[in-house]
Amino acid sequence: MISEIKYPLYLQAYASGRLDKAIEEGYRLLESCAICPRKCRVNRLKDQKGYCKIGLNARVYSFTPHHGEEPPISGKNGSGAIFFSGCNLSCVYCQNYQFSQAENGRELQPEELGDIMLGLQNKHCHNINLVTPTHVMPQILKALSAAIKKGLNIPLVYNTSGYELPRIVKLLKGIADIYLVDMRYFDNDKAVKYSNAPDYPEYNQGAVKEMHRQVGIAKFDPDGIIRSGVIIRHLVLPGGVSGTKGIAGFIAREVSPDTYISLMSQYLPCYKADQLKEISRRISLKEYEAAKEALQKFGLNNGWIQEEYGLEAMAGIHIRPAKV
Ligand code: SF4
Repeated sequence: MISEIKYPLYLQAYASGRLDKAIEEGYRLLESCAICPRKCRVNRLKDQKGYCKIGLNARVYSFTPHHGEEPPISGKNGSGAIFFSGCNLSCVYCQNYQFSQAENGRELQPEELGDIMLGLQNKHCHNINLVTPTHVMPQILKALSAAIKKGLNIPLVYNTSGYELPRIVKLLKGIADIYLVDMRYFDNDKAVKYSNAPDYPEYNQGAVKEMHRQVGIAKFDPDGIIRSGVIIRHLVLPGGVSGTKGIAGFIAREVSPDTYISLMSQYLPCYKADQLKEISRRISLKEYEAAKEALQKFGLNNGWIQEEYGLEAMAGIHIRPAKV
């Protein structure tokens, strides 16, 4: 049941002035950039670029109604996905390396980005889905404010790799309706080796706990479209690299066993992955089964598993991940 809370949350944040405060604080952090755990300390207000390779303005690679997300996010009309260029991770297997690692995409002023959001709403998308938003969070909030003035009123999905400072997630309180967050690694050495992300597990776990504190377990409207809450995405990597058991235990103990989880089997050895033997292949059926069992062992039964042609609700579904 959806309570009397009004969605999207950002309309209240806009009306109360909280959104303006978050924008102000975000831009202050850009001056000596500490938007993410890298803390590059470059002055992005002067268009200096740090690890994520993005300066003052956000860069967008593409935007479209997206039908390939989890069913309650894509729904019938698609999710209004905006793919941002640049990233604060450097995953060796990145499928989007053309714009995450290279400087492709178009630089946009906040007003222009806001107009893209409105365009996606006009195409009847169920939500605005910010794909890899963290390194341009302040710019997005400024765009959001501009779009609200022109009538934006669909939920906001913060779709992140989860390498986040909990402090930054706190800034999004009452603004993001839905967190679609990766939990990629449980072990720090794997996070360093495959994504060059020191302390990823610690930052990631802190961020997920804060997200859960803010929006809790996913809630859906009568048509099954998500209105608020957290969905955790866990990509199963070959050879146990992603640490599924540890992550499942963390979710059950520290977040909630009712958390919705999307257990993903579609790993492909893209980008530089073929240079590392242990991850230079797709996962096996056995590896996916083991990941599913890990979730079951910790009583995690909400969410979606992958079968060959899409996602299915978790309970009692035959699993057919990609074959080796
Ligand atoms: S957002 Fe970019 S520049 Fe800022 S700390 Fe993170 S990686 Fe560095």
